[in-house]
Amino acid sequence: MIVKMSSIATDAEVTAIETKLHALGYKTGKMIGEQVTLIGVYGDISRLPQEELAEMPGVERLIPISRAYKRAAQKGDPLHPMRSTVAIGSVVAGGDDLTVVAGPCSVESEPQIMEAARIVREAGANCLRGGVVKYRSSPYSGWEGLGSTDQESLRRGLALIVKAGREFGMPTVVEILDPADVSVYEDAGVACLQVGEPNSKNQALLNRLRETPLPIIHKRGNSLDTEAYLLWVERVMSAGKENVILCERGITSCNRYTRNTLDLGSVAAFHYQLSGLPVAVDASHGTGIRDLVFPLSLAGIMAGASVVLVEAHPNPLVAKSDGFQGLFPEQLRGLVKAAQEVWRVRKETDRDYVSTLALERAYEARMQDDRRRFFPQG
Ligand code: PEP
Ligand code: MN
Repeated sequence: MIVKMSSIATDAEVTAIETKLHALGYKTGKMIGEQVTLIGVYGDISRLPQEELAEMPGVERLIPISRAYKRAAQKGDPLHPMRSTVAIGSVVAGGDDLTVVAGPCSVESEPQIMEAARIVREAGANCLRGGVVKYRSSPYSGWEGLGSTDQESLRRGLALIVKAGREFGMPTVVEILDPADVSVYEDAGVACLQVGEPNSKNQALLNRLRETPLPIIHKRGNSLDTEAYLLWVERVMSAGKENVILCERGITSCNRYTRNTLDLGSVAAFHYQLSGLPVAVDASHGTGIRDLVFPLSLAGIMAGASVVLVEAHPNPLVAKSDGFQGLFPEQLRGLVKAAQEVWRVRKETDRDYVSTLALERAYEARMQDDRRRFFPQG
């Protein structure tokens, strides 16, 4: 919010506005022009007494600065924000139920993905994941996925995971790398497209994804701050597409112990403050350590996630990619069970969540009295 002072406002009137804003707990920044002075107001402006401020002497008008991302932003009454649900085939994400998307890092062969689908189903997960073309950090890794040779190999690889998903009654989530392949994924019957971390700000891919009816899980780039990330999400949504799921999968930090640093603060910010879109947490890539996937997935649910993305393999010790972080079948079973428990707790504890906004309105009314009571000497 910017307070624009009138051209005849006095210094005392400018100071009075600043004093008022500081007393309300806002930080301000001032721009003194030749004609007018502008006062920038930083903080949660939803609790700003705008009418009172607009009527103070010397104020010409208040200029709201809305968020740069509009469709990805939280909408509705801030006390009861609107939350969208996203259908992944027959599975509804972001609604009453927790969604668990599980499966191997990559689809490696028909027997592997069939067995993976079986363990994912038996564990109680809802959707089957698996990459058919893999984005590898080293050109010498020797494995870029079954579908990496050409579109025909891509078609064959996608057919395998779709078949496995159908056999075990699960919609499939598959990463897409190339905008030219969107219709191949659609035709193959993939239920949801994943935008991987390296493509989080791939403009050509995101522009193309505006047009697909398929839902998108858009992973956050590991060096994108929340605002920049939501602006890339906005790109996919900018022409009206709504079925998008956010995904926190770890960011770059000074920490070298885990593969990435799972930013749970941002999971909470996305869910409670910034967006109405469902939020997924991916503790597999967020930690890169099998034994940390369990606690961090559960923490992600408590922080605000309604979708858990997790890598699991019938035997991660023989996996062609990311085997070190893939869960063993027994671990996946334990995680899905615990995740459902934590989801129940989260739904219950959410009833005890009291938004600051509601309180501040009430407490603002007693600021003068309280100042007198607590600081009688002034
Ligand atoms: C994946 O999901 O297998 C993957 C490669 O994830 P990310 O893009 O988050 O690294
Ligand atoms: Mn992976």
